[in-house]
This record gives sequence, structure tokens and C-alpha cells, in this order.
Amino acid sequence: MKYSLVIPIYNEENTLPELYRRLWGVMDVMDGEAEVILVNDGSGDRSLQLIREFHQKDSRICYLSFARNFGHQTAVTAGLNFARGEVVIVLDGDLQDPPELIPDLIAKWREGYQVVYAQRTQRRQESWLKRSTAFVFYRLLRRLANVDIPSDTGDFCLMDRCVVDILNKMPERDRYIRGLRAWIGFEQTAIKFQRDPRFAGEVKYTFAKSFALAIDGLVSFSKVPLRLATYVGLFAACVSILMAVLVFYWRIFYPNSPLTGMAIIIMAVFFLGAVQLVSIGILGEYIGRIYEEVKGRPLYTLAEVVGFGEKRE
Ligand code: UDP
Ligand code: MG
Repeated sequence: MKYSLVIPIYNEENTLPELYRRLWGVMDVMDGEAEVILVNDGSGDRSLQLIREFHQKDSRICYLSFARNFGHQTAVTAGLNFARGEVVIVLDGDLQDPPELIPDLIAKWREGYQVVYAQRTQRRQESWLKRSTAFVFYRLLRRLANVDIPSDTGDFCLMDRCVVDILNKMPERDRYIRGLRAWIGFEQTAIKFQRDPRFAGEVKYTFAKSFALAIDGLVSFSKVPLRLATYVGLFAACVSILMAVLVFYWRIFYPNSPLTGMAIIIMAVFFLGAVQLVSIGILGEYIGRIYEEVKGRPLYTLAEVVGFGEKRE
């Protein structure tokens, strides 16, 4: 097997026929044996039926089906676990990542790069909120992360077998794949592309899911938030010393000023309370993740594994 295409699918019944058509066009011009791994992430619509039909029509299409919705990153992880190709390409199932770009990714791989990621130059027809929060987040992450995670790249990429093997061996549960991919290293390069609008259906990444992914990215790749608590604490200590000085000053020179009374105390109490709560929250983010890792549950449960040969099924 030369190429594996890993595609997570969650309630994409309206996109699947078009996805199939466009993949077909691309697979026909590929120069080696290829497989498509569709990972059904617990869809509640007709996606799984359609996927089954595709498999019947074309044996190059194999699929995994989760027993429930586990999320995009987990779906990609499962696909990578099962991929047999020498080269693995990950793309979204909503046609926002144009399959026609795959030959370009492969050309770069031929030049000797082990990771070729697609970098968005433009996001067409995505909401203002999504674009602006993504813009800020990627830049913040670049500043804070201890690895160089390129901006404006999603999971659309090509990975060589050696990178996929390492990724598969990583036991961590919080899988911020674009970060792990950067962490692994090797020769990496970008291809610029314009992100198409979604072909059909609604965005499956709700704001809450995107926010959770952003926190995962930050916490998995940066200890700066932990240190932030220390910095804010130090800052609060300085402020309280300053306030003490002010109180003394007012006591001596303006004995009747209301500022020397309750107001200043309440302010100090609120400020310190806020600092403590934020710090506890940050600790919680990290400890919660330690707890998740320690439990050591499997990442996903599979209801169906079809098309991978008898051994794996
Ligand atoms: N997806 C998934 N599980 C989820 C949410 C999304 O497998 O819980 C898939 C979805 O079917 C699509 C891809 O992940 O193929 C990207 O989702 P979406 O287009 O909603 O996200 P966006 O492109 O806005 O980041
Ligand atoms: Mg999308």
C-alpha cells in the first residue's frame, strides 16, 4: 500500500456523495495503490449507510465506525492507527480541504519532506468570530508553546510512515494532532492554500468544541499558564504593598477620606479572590489532564472495522 487517506466523518450525509466523486478523481491520478479510511465518529444521520455503500462499490474504501461520538482529533487518531500506507494524508470530510491538493502534497514528499502541512492563506465564508478567534489563538499558541507550531494550519497534511509510527506510539489522550506533528520534527514544509467553504451541512465544531481544542493545544504544549499564576500572584503582592503605603499616606494626611475605609479593603479582597480562583482554575486544567491520562482508558471504542483484511477485523 502506498497512500492512505484518513477522513473523519461526523454527520456529513450531504457531503459524502460529492466527497466520493472528488476523491475518485484524485485517486485515479495517483501513482500507487491507495486506500481511503473513512472514520465515522458516531454520526446520527445516514453517513454510515452511505459509507457502507461506498465500500461495496469500491473496495479501496475502508471504514471504522466508533460506538459513539469521540471528537475529531480522536477520529483522526483512529484512522492513523489503522492506516497501512507508506504515506498518510489527513483531510476533513466536509471538502474544506480540497482533495485536488493531494498531488501537490505528494510532490513535496518526493522532494524529501516527511511532513507536508497545508497552510490556509484565506478562509472563505467562515464566520467573523471563527476567523478572528482562530487568528488570535494561533498567534498566542506560537508565543506560548514550547514547540514551533505553525500558524493557520489545521490537520490537513501529509505524513510519512516514520512520522505516523511515532504519532501512533504517543500514548497521550489530549491529542492536539497539529501540535504533536510539529513536536515530532523531521523535515517539514508548508503548502499554501485557500480554504474552501464547507460543501454542505453545518459546522460540526461548535464554538465550545473549538474552545476546548484551543485549551487542549495551549495546556498540552505550554507551561506558561501555570507560571502565569505565579506572575499574577507576585503582581498582586506588589499591588497590596502599594495599597498599604497609600492607606498609611491617607491616614496621616487625609484622615477623613472614604478611601481609607471599606472600599479599599473590599477591592483588595476581590482582587486577591479573583487571582486565587484563576490560579486554581489553571491548576485544575493540568491536574484534570493528569487524571485523564492516569485512568488509561482506551481512546475510542469501535463498533465496526471493515475493509482492512481479516487480521485487523
Ligand atoms: N468531525 C468529527 N467529529 C466531531 C466534529 C467534527 O469527526 O465531533 C469532523 C467533521 O465531519 C469534519 C471535520 O471533523 O470532517 C471538521 O469539522 P468541521 O468542518 O465542523 O470543523 P471546521 O472545519 O469548522 O474546523
Ligand atoms: Mg470544516
